[in-house]
Amino acid sequence: MSTRNRIVLEAELLAPLVLKGNRQSQRSDCLDCIPGTTLRGALAGAYLRFGGTPAEAAFRRLFLDAQQARWATLRTGLHVPPLTAASCKRSPGFSGQDEHGVVDLLVAVLRAPEGEGREECPRPGCGQPLKPFGKAYDRTSTGPKSTSAPKATAMHVGIDRDTGAARHSIFFSEEAIADFSSEEAIAGDAGDAGAPSRQPTPTRIVLRGVVELGDAARADFDALLGDLGGIVRIGRSRSRGRGKVCLKLRETLAAPSAADYEATARDLAAAARRSGERVLTLGFPNGAILVDEVLRFANDPAVSIPWLPALDRWDSPPDRIRPLYARTRLQLVRGWNVAHQLPRQDDMGILSGSVFAYTVPAAQWPGIAAELVALAEHGVGLRREEGFGTVSICDRFHLDAAIPAAPGSHPGGAR
Ligand SMILES: [Zn+2]
Repeated sequence: MSTRNRIVLEAELLAPLVLKGNRQSQRSDCLDCIPGTTLRGALAGAYLRFGGTPAEAAFRRLFLDAQQARWATLRTGLHVPPLTAASCKRSPGFSGQDEHGVVDLLVAVLRAPEGEGREECPRPGCGQPLKPFGKAYDRTSTGPKSTSAPKATAMHVGIDRDTGAARHSIFFSEEAIADFSSEEAIAGDAGDAGAPSRQPTPTRIVLRGVVELGDAARADFDALLGDLGGIVRIGRSRSRGRGKVCLKLRETLAAPSAADYEATARDLAAAARRSGERVLTLGFPNGAILVDEVLRFANDPAVSIPWLPALDRWDSPPDRIRPLYARTRLQLVRGWNVAHQLPRQDDMGILSGSVFAYTVPAAQWPGIAAELVALAEHGVGLRREEGFGTVSICDRFHLDAAIPAAPGSHPGGAR
């Protein structure tokens, strides 16, 4: 197996992007990300349209072998907050002029499990309750920042093919990631094929994610992007000029090391006041599809990670790894099979951002250090080539955004 590179893949929208969250045709709401499934499907389709065949080694490396290529969900930010992230009900968002900041509740919950859900907005004097915060974010020199994908809805009148006139009672709306402030740019984009970036959308909209490619798959992908001029069509309404994106590989990220994991695990244990322990967290930024040995869907990573205790083993002896906390939910994973023009089989997966916390006796940590590196390298569960099952180990966000422990001295003082 070749070395895998973690590379930032950028998709710049050259036309409005229409991605439906469900198959019901009367619903027009659009996702604000490109799921890994959709990305991989669009790339595989482009590969085949360019004359490739599924039997080729390059096709298998790029689209069928999770050890060679793992695609990812592309979002407006590179990082997904864990489900323990929360922000002010009234003014949500990372600290800014109008935003009251984002906090992570994990450390507070581990410190005082009975206090869960009673936290208030961190902005002094606000006192509003907190609500879950799930917007993707970037780490910048001035702290974390999140941006929203601009959405716009276009209304369409159905045209009767026989008469060329408006068809009776066919009128529908379609939401897209787009900036519709300049209609000419969109109309100008409707023709297409060869000319990339000739007429970009007025606001530069870029979605990004971290894909993992082995050296050979990286060379295959570079060759494919070269053939395509970087241009791929993604999502619905492609025949009406929607979904044209320009893909570029950006910087390669360093893989986190076992030492990084342990440093965070030690700091988490200290913050949660658990001496002699390490707190291990496993996060699933793209969700995961986990099945047990008889292929039942599960929401417990232990079904795929042999050395991890099951979530119901709260009462394991103190010299063992024990589960402390989990925040997760099973959801239906739907998809559309472009090759077959049929809906994919539905799977049940755990929600993106799901997080699981365990306590590990300090003396046992060296025994799992290598397992953690392997876990980050391979991921867990099914459909890993689509980005499911990518594991974020000991996410520093839990510490960086933790509510400081200050018993009895609530900064707002309004209670
Ligand atoms: Zn507030």
